[in-house]
Amino acid sequence: MLPEASSLWLLRLLRDIQLAQFYRPILEELNVTRPEHFEFVRPEDLDSIGMGRPAQRRLAEALKRHRSGHKPKNWVYKILGGFVPEQETTPSSDSPQSLPEPEGGLKCLIPDGAVCRGELLGSGCFGVVHRGLWTLPSGQSVSVAVKSLRVAPEGAVGTELGDFLREVSVMMNLEHPHLLRLHGLVLGQPLQMVMELAPLGSLHARLTAPAPTPPLPVALLCLFLRQLAGAMVYLGARGLVHRDLATRNLLLASPRMIKVADFGLVRPLGGARGRYVMGGPRPIPYAWCAPESLRQGAFSSASDVWMFGVTLWEMFSGGEEPWSGVPPYLILQRLEKDQARLPRPPLCSRALYALALRCWAPHPADRPSFSYLEELLQEVELSVHGVTHQECQVALRATGGDVVSAIQHLKVDQLFHLSSRSRADCRRILEHYQWDLSAASRYVLAQP
Ligand code: ATP
Repeated sequence: MLPEASSLWLLRLLRDIQLAQFYRPILEELNVTRPEHFEFVRPEDLDSIGMGRPAQRRLAEALKRHRSGHKPKNWVYKILGGFVPEQETTPSSDSPQSLPEPEGGLKCLIPDGAVCRGELLGSGCFGVVHRGLWTLPSGQSVSVAVKSLRVAPEGAVGTELGDFLREVSVMMNLEHPHLLRLHGLVLGQPLQMVMELAPLGSLHARLTAPAPTPPLPVALLCLFLRQLAGAMVYLGARGLVHRDLATRNLLLASPRMIKVADFGLVRPLGGARGRYVMGGPRPIPYAWCAPESLRQGAFSSASDVWMFGVTLWEMFSGGEEPWSGVPPYLILQRLEKDQARLPRPPLCSRALYALALRCWAPHPADRPSFSYLEELLQEVELSVHGVTHQECQVALRATGGDVVSAIQHLKVDQLFHLSSRSRADCRRILEHYQWDLSAASRYVLAQP
């Protein structure tokens, strides 16, 4: 069969390095028809067509030469770095460490016909998301979510396309239990991201679900916050800033597990100050942003912490919109000049609200780190689950009083006798963190 004119470059390139036998497999199994498509090819994909690692290195070199001979005009080059087999990557101390191959060794490139789209799950600025069924080469079917780009790849380079491709390139390298996983990319028309399905939809939709859906228990919200903090520790350690933390971007993988999604605004942190500064005006989620992001377009892990505080506020106010009714151009003035902050939602304990206020410290350096937040929320969660419930039962038996007053009279000594913690830990929970027991009592009351 004669090669198609559009893929002659590939045949020539492979012939030059004596790898012409891989022309058909690369074209047909990996769906690579243009040099830019190699951006999405991983060494594992080449392994799967039988290309050895030395041959992969030759291919990477040839692609490098091909690129230097052809000034990149294409959209993919403008956004992503080049394909390099794993062995050739020299991680610097700042660069993200390479991750183990995800379980099941799933491929990054997925043939068009292997994914069948179903019901529409939602739509965002630059894509629509459908439920889908992905048939693996083994014949096994996996439920997935498929995000399709709305604009044609041949079109002009747009912010939407840039964000879509950035999202792919970021997600390709992430592996964390609370970050939504990318299974692969379909290099078709339209471009499609095949992602892990979060069957219960977004946390925001759950928070705003009308009655008779019951509100989420306080302890569950604390658990979600801890999961979010853990995912953000991971992202920060990889030198990335999310820039779009909000309950709409937290998806429910199961009733007790959230996954952070929407990586379109993720950027690498750079320089000694570990910041990313926007090059020009771009849409950002105003009401969730820290003052330095609104004023100078500056983002950092500390600005993500600010957004974490706003996300906490959303969770405890039933998914209300922050600064609703305040025009965007006035939000910065309210934050800086008036020193205003979002009010404490009635369901939010004083201790948690105090934590949110710390996340909203005017100076980024004064905000807590995500590791501190994760640790603190773990303590809170343990105290809700392990201690107050027991205390509640004991106090109820002893006093015959109601659950709320029993818990409100909890003392360090009682906590010490009821739990396996040290006295110092008990004091820390009750005094240092000032855990507001009225919130815990709501949880105990909500238990079946
Ligand atoms: P934008 O991308 O403009 O910030 P968005 O986050 O709402 O907005 P998408 O990421 O395109 O946009 O998602 C649209 C909707 O599709 C989400 O609100 C969510 O309800 C649903 N959705 C997205 N990804 C998944 C998924 N993996 N599993 C289940 N539902 C999803």
